[in-house]
Amino acid sequence: MTKFFAILHKCFNNFIEFLFPSACPICGAPVTTHGELCSDCWGCFDWISGPHCARCGYPFPDDYESGSGAMCPVCAAGKNDLEIMRAACVYDDMSRSVMLPFKHGGRIKYARFMSRAMIWALRDVNIAPDIIMPVPLATRRLFNRGYNQATLLARQIARAYGAPIDFDSVHRKYRPNMGHKTHAQRFENIRGVFNVADKESVKDKKILLVDDVMTSGATFAELARVLRRAGASEIYGVVFCRVIRAE
Ligand SMILES: [Zn+2]
Ligand SMILES: [Zn+2]
Repeated sequence: MTKFFAILHKCFNNFIEFLFPSACPICGAPVTTHGELCSDCWGCFDWISGPHCARCGYPFPDDYESGSGAMCPVCAAGKNDLEIMRAACVYDDMSRSVMLPFKHGGRIKYARFMSRAMIWALRDVNIAPDIIMPVPLATRRLFNRGYNQATLLARQIARAYGAPIDFDSVHRKYRPNMGHKTHAQRFENIRGVFNVADKESVKDKKILLVDDVMTSGATFAELARVLRRAGASEIYGVVFCRVIRAE
């Protein structure tokens, strides 16, 4: 019987595919898998695929020769707030050109390839999160935007890890936009915005935080701080793209 439904499901999918052929969500070129990018668009991103910090994923130069456990100076000094952090690609003109419409322009169809890339970014780490937690949005922003872009990204990631999404244990207060602030100001501005409303649900849990972009790392650091204080055991993070500091 299960097999019958599996065949029926496949037939239905083929029929939908026939009616609506898969197209690259960015340029509209035909692709074989629904929601995936065409190879031209895929090639425009700066994917973090070379050597990188074992803990935070910060990319090393391509010719960098190190063991698989090599860490960046920040992580080696024990100054990282997360146990593991990964980003799929570098924040640049290309990633910005998909992030802005995804976040503010309702282009939620980008979520599929973005979250697939984020799962790929976690390929070299062996983690088993109990909870997948999209970075919370303040209620006012959620009402204005209509959706939390981090929750859209978390769906496929949660499926990949077989873990539930937790989008209501932590609440976020509204604070005006952090754009164009200095590194130190960002950390100061985010301090105290998160409140763990349901401590029991995060206690002793391994939590994978999900967001679209990491700039200074202040948001993850603050969220990790309050979750640890509430008893979370390990905190990991994954984003679609991250700002890479100029060396
Ligand atoms: Zn394309
Ligand atoms: Zn590092």
